[in-house]
Amino acid sequence: MTTVRICHLYPENMNIYGDRGNINVLIKRLEWRGHSATITPIGIGEDFSPDDFDLCYLGGGQDRDQNIIAADLTKKAEGIRSAAKDGVAFLWVCGGIQLAGHGYTDANGNNLPGVSILDLETVAGEERLIGDVVLDAKIGDNNFTVVGYENHIGQTNLGPDARPLGNVVKGFGNNGTSGVEGAVQQRVIGTYLHGPLLPKNPILADALLTWSLEHRSSEKISLEPLSDNFTEAAKGRAIERAQANR
Ligand code: GLN
Repeated sequence: MTTVRICHLYPENMNIYGDRGNINVLIKRLEWRGHSATITPIGIGEDFSPDDFDLCYLGGGQDRDQNIIAADLTKKAEGIRSAAKDGVAFLWVCGGIQLAGHGYTDANGNNLPGVSILDLETVAGEERLIGDVVLDAKIGDNNFTVVGYENHIGQTNLGPDARPLGNVVKGFGNNGTSGVEGAVQQRVIGTYLHGPLLPKNPILADALLTWSLEHRSSEKISLEPLSDNFTEAAKGRAIERAQANR
């Protein structure tokens, strides 16, 4: 049994569209396999120690929320980059993917510095990109479908060091024109997908858990499969809805 140490960044500020539900999925999918998790909320003014964690989670937030945390996140940036370099798993969602990059210029022209754990830049566009999303996703040699919901004004462009989480089958994705969504670099995943994301995307959840267990144990991990019938049924319904809507 292994205890995975999860950091939940700015849970009071960056938690829209039920993103907190992602934490619950990570906990339960560990417990169903005989492991456990500790969850450490770290907010404004609280130290982030890179050696203390195996997985770092940041949910989405409006421009206002991102402005509130921006200065504090800059103070944590060096430790966050050190954690990413050391192989800690990251899932940063929507406002999170934007701040995982080099910077986000918001709808009012404020340039919020990112922590540069993903090679990308984000600038607010003219229209909000809203709706159901279906992706053909790939992590490692694993190809799978990902479903979610997006609502963002930011338009993200990837640099050469970041690869997309997936190709857009339905929806806008990173910027409405590139045909891709999200970003993956080392064990860092950034995505615009809310829902929350992980309840309907168990392969993504297990990829993050595999990385975090490997970081904690320094061993190669192969997670035993879980019975995900209900999850796959919910994903199938989400795909049908996305196909019908656009
Ligand atoms: N404020 C950012 C945007 O509008 C992120 C929104 C979000 O986290 N849903 O693009």
